[in-house]
Amino acid sequence: MNELLSKANLLIRKDRPPDKPWECITTFWHNKFLQLTFHTVGCRYSLAGSCTMCNYGAGTGYPPRIMLQELEKICHSEIFLESDMVLLGGSGSFLDDQEIPEELQLNIMQYIAQSHIQEIHIETHYKSVTESKLKKIREIFANKKIYIEMGLETVTEEFQKDILNKLIPLSELGKIIQQIHAYQMYTSLNILLGMPFLSAGQQLADARATIHWAMENKADYIVIFPVNIQPYTLFEWWHEHGFISEVSPWLLFILLFGLSEEELRTVCLAWYGNRSISYSDGKRTIVPYSCSECHPELLAFFNDFSSNFDLEYRKKILWKFSQKSFSCHCYQNILAKIETGGNADMLSAMETAYHATKRWVEHDGAR
Ligand SMILES: [Zn+2]
Repeated sequence: MNELLSKANLLIRKDRPPDKPWECITTFWHNKFLQLTFHTVGCRYSLAGSCTMCNYGAGTGYPPRIMLQELEKICHSEIFLESDMVLLGGSGSFLDDQEIPEELQLNIMQYIAQSHIQEIHIETHYKSVTESKLKKIREIFANKKIYIEMGLETVTEEFQKDILNKLIPLSELGKIIQQIHAYQMYTSLNILLGMPFLSAGQQLADARATIHWAMENKADYIVIFPVNIQPYTLFEWWHEHGFISEVSPWLLFILLFGLSEEELRTVCLAWYGNRSISYSDGKRTIVPYSCSECHPELLAFFNDFSSNFDLEYRKKILWKFSQKSFSCHCYQNILAKIETGGNADMLSAMETAYHATKRWVEHDGAR
């Protein structure tokens, strides 16, 4: 791990308000998709100072009995009954016993297995995926369609290490994908678009390379996450101090427009501006944004794209959207940005941000 980034992360997280004590499971519902986030003591990687972009929060944890009572309530709610697909997540990893004791994981899965839901996604760190977990999941869900969702973010090792502070050895991840397939389950990989300090062109190239790796390694589902600047993260500190800016949603559109047919069938979108975390102190997520004219239309397009996996339909709406004209210059601006900025600019932007981060850590860390 990068020592400076770890120190900065821990310093920021020291001031983070704990999760609301009355909310042991939060729900997010969109297009018949229901995400259940079980609030825990926090992700072990977050507590160790990893991941500059992530803030799923942390709290005191809840007794299993309370979690199961809350789950039962949710399973009788309208949103659950209208859902086709459920995602189970923790503050970090659903399958991490340190966050959710194994017995509680099994009880939650057994409860969902008895419901009408046929497609279940389990979001977890690749390190928490083991042979014994996969065997138990397969047994509980019998013939249901299971996806194990893991963060890959980027295939570029230096960005993993020096920007995200999250190392994912690709050979290890490749083996885990094969293991998941051996249990007749599917793999879903999360990919980041808008890596800080890179030019728009480099951000696009990095996301493309990561999608290519995921396809070559037989990922069954690829979720593209344009960068959201979350409260109490180093990304937010860099943003506040002018080192990084929010991602244009047009970059996501351009990425989708350039995908092959096979890739188009496999990708899905998350956090494209459709959700946000807010804290009681007024801090909230900075989402991808362009301008008041084109942004609502882009958002509607991404909604439409995300809710339909049919290749011909996706090709048709991509083409239709590319023919639209706007009086703003957001699209032209991003095209111009794609053409500029190289490695030297990236390194100098990183160096400047690193210097400022170091000064701040040394000053504030010493208080
Ligand atoms: Zn615009």
